[in-house]
Amino acid sequence: MVARQASQQDSIRTLTAEMSRAFIMCRSRGHRWNDEAHYVLVPDSSPQSAALTLQCERCMSKRIDRITRRPSGRWEFDGRHYEYADGYLIDSNSDIGVTRSDFVDELVRRDVALDKGASPPPRRPA
Ligand SMILES: [Zn+2]
Repeated sequence: MVARQASQQDSIRTLTAEMSRAFIMCRSRGHRWNDEAHYVLVPDSSPQSAALTLQCERCMSKRIDRITRRPSGRWEFDGRHYEYADGYLIDSNSDIGVTRSDFVDELVRRDVALDKGASPPPRRPA
């Protein structure tokens, strides 16, 4: 991994510190999809298609899977897209190289701060 500049690290710490716990959890562990949804036919689609919308129970983002009916009659996966909750996405102008590890780091810092019996991890000197 390429070493970061101190200013970049500070920017990343500021960005992650301002995020909600749900976003930090999803960005570090992956979404927690509610899997009780079922496929729903897309009206007036040609060829016929159906969509499955899963919603994350933590951050409320959505994952939409689409299947299409082939001429043979078989349904086949045709694509996926996401609709993210407000505030989940990082503005491309402020994306300064944040990684999943940064969200894990932020989550641990918050958890340690909640655990009064433990000492927080050392912070980089200012
Ligand atoms: Zn989520």
